[in-house]
Amino acid sequence: MRILITGVAGFIGAHLAEKLLKEGNEVYGLDIMLRGNKNNIGEFESHKNFNFFESSILEEAALEILIKKCDLVYHLAAAVGVENIIGDILKVISINVDGTKNVASLAFKYKKKVIFTSTSEIYGKSPNVPFKEDDDRLLGPTSVDRWVYSSTKALGEYMLIGYHRQGLPMSIVRFFNAYGPKLDIEGSGRVMSRFIVQALANKQITVIGDGKQTRCFTYVEDVIKGLVKCAVLKEAEGQIFNIGDSKEITILELAKIIKKVTGSKSEIVHIQPEEIYGSGYEDISRRLPDVSKAEKILDFKAKIGIEEGIEKTIEWFRKNKESANA
Ligand code: UDP
Repeated sequence: MRILITGVAGFIGAHLAEKLLKEGNEVYGLDIMLRGNKNNIGEFESHKNFNFFESSILEEAALEILIKKCDLVYHLAAAVGVENIIGDILKVISINVDGTKNVASLAFKYKKKVIFTSTSEIYGKSPNVPFKEDDDRLLGPTSVDRWVYSSTKALGEYMLIGYHRQGLPMSIVRFFNAYGPKLDIEGSGRVMSRFIVQALANKQITVIGDGKQTRCFTYVEDVIKGLVKCAVLKEAEGQIFNIGDSKEITILELAKIIKKVTGSKSEIVHIQPEEIYGSGYEDISRRLPDVSKAEKILDFKAKIGIEEGIEKTIEWFRKNKESANA
């Protein structure tokens, strides 16, 4: 099969490309290389079935050629990460809304199936955990930058749903704090990378607030399994799935696990979010998926436990230490 991955050099894109190449597919990868890391695709860049294009989803002409050529599109390219989102809301809107419009409308034009990667951020700060795909969403005010990400991803979902009603084959997946090797070492603000980098450097591990806020960290291998199943199962078409681990942990627990696994001398400290993000930040106190739909239709269940996943992730961070210590 010929498969296009937008955002191929990002953390999830690179893992997905590797998996699809192993399965014998021809992979076309698009990435603007801004956040996408060249090292991420280094291991398979010269693979005979891998074709890389350094371009943006905002460049319609290049995108059209690729979508026309491929049988299936995984649309992963997006502005992600709290640190990147706060302060640059216009960029987020442009990539996540205009870019997704380009992908969805061209896929519709050429009748190509799209798997759209959305986010658990869709549910915002709703207190009704665990979140089911059709649950209500609760977002904060537009004066808080954070919510632009959820809003733009929701518009992306609406676009896919709208085109689906006119015949576009598609599925939507919502990820829950995916992590693993190749996670951005710097610049994303993601807690997992921040804590690992801090622990490896024996610097303070910065827990925001009391650390009682929770997340369900999902190892990338599990994420990819869910993603691929969405594309191959007919029953997944037109559906939205939570793809996440059901094990909920607090951020303070995460800090302790990372400290233990790295054998770090770091002190765990509590800070205010403004120290990292300035204003425009609001936290989510609990985030937990209901995965019964993915279990039933995709036979999806996250299998890699947090300690094992963190060990594998830390191993990768250690090997890429130069930039981790920068
Ligand atoms: N967080 C933290 N210390 C940091 C960075 C983040 O305690 O140095 C917390 C953050 O407040 C949030 C959680 O970790 O409660 C997850 O943050 P992240 O930005 O990774 O992703 P989110 O799940 O909020 O989208």
